[in-house]
Amino acid sequence: MKNKVKSWIKKILSYEPNNVFIQIPRGLIKIAHELSNDLRSYGITSFISAEPCFGACDIRDYEAKKLGCDILVHFGHSDMGLNTIVPIIYIEYDMRQDVLSILNDNIKKISEFDKIGIVTTLQYIWCLNDVKNELSKEKTVIIAKGKCKYSGQILGCDLSAAKSIENDVDCFLFIGAGKFHALGLCLSVQKPVFSMDLEKMDIINFETLKHEYEKRIWLNIAKALDADNFGVIISTKSGQLNKENAKFAVNELEKLGKNAFLLVTDRIDLDEICAFADAFINTACPRIGIDDIHKFKKPIINFKDLEKLLNLINKT
Ligand code: SF4
Repeated sequence: MKNKVKSWIKKILSYEPNNVFIQIPRGLIKIAHELSNDLRSYGITSFISAEPCFGACDIRDYEAKKLGCDILVHFGHSDMGLNTIVPIIYIEYDMRQDVLSILNDNIKKISEFDKIGIVTTLQYIWCLNDVKNELSKEKTVIIAKGKCKYSGQILGCDLSAAKSIENDVDCFLFIGAGKFHALGLCLSVQKPVFSMDLEKMDIINFETLKHEYEKRIWLNIAKALDADNFGVIISTKSGQLNKENAKFAVNELEKLGKNAFLLVTDRIDLDEICAFADAFINTACPRIGIDDIHKFKKPIINFKDLEKLLNLINKT
C-alpha cells in the first residue's frame, strides 16, 4: 500500500496543488486518512468528502471549487468522461483474490452452456483474462468492449459490454460481489445470468431473482395507474442528470391527462421525496427503480419502464 500511496502522491504533486478534494467510498476511508496525512507533510490541505461516493457519476467538483481545491482525487471508479470544472485524478482500485479456484469449485453450475459472455466491474477487471483462459479450455468465451473504459466492464447503468454480445452467447457469467450488478444485468438481457460471487465463493443463478424483481417492477407500474400527480425525478449529480428524459416523461404523462412535475434533487431521499407526488418516474441512477423499489412507500418507475406505464394508462 505504501508504494501505491507514494505513486498517487507523485501524481497529485504534479498538479502543484495547495488544496486537494478527496472522494472515496466508505470501505476505503483508511486510505484517505493515509493520503491526507502524507499530503499534509507537503503543506497541502485535503478535504475528504463525507458524502456517499456511489460512482464516477457523482463527481463533487463544484464543492471542490467552492473550497478552493486545485484538484479532485476520486477513488474506486473509472472515468465516465464527464466534463468537470476542476481537474480530476481517478484512482482505480482493485480487489485481489483466488478467483480461479472459486470458478473451478463451481464450474458444474454452468456446464450446460457452451458460449459464455463474461463481464465484471472495475475492481475485478484484472482477472477477466485469467477466467477467460480457464473457461476456454472447454467453452467459447466472449468479452466485449462497451461504453465503459475496459473490455468486459459494466456499471449498474451501463451494460453495453453485455448487450452487444447478447445474441452471440448462451449465458452470462458476472464476476464480482453482491447482487447489484448481476441483478441489473439479468433484468436487461434475455439470456441466463450467473454471478460468480467472490464474497460468497459461489456461482449463483439469477433466474429466480430476475422473476421476483420483474414482478415487483410490474406491481409498481400497476400501482402507479391510480396516481394523479407524478413526480419526475431529476438528479443534479452530473453523471445522472437526464433533463431531456425528464421533460419527455412530463409531456407524455400530461398528454394522458396526468399531472406531472419535475422534481430536482441531489441524492434521492426516499422518505423525503414521498410528500411531493403520488408516484414517481426516476431519470437518475437506474438502480433506484430496482434495488430500492421495496423501500419506497409509493410507486417508483425507472425511465426505461415509462413506456410500459404509458401503454397501461392508455388502455385504462
Ligand atoms: S448512475 Fe448509478 S449505476 Fe451508474 S455509475 Fe452512478 S451509481 Fe453506478
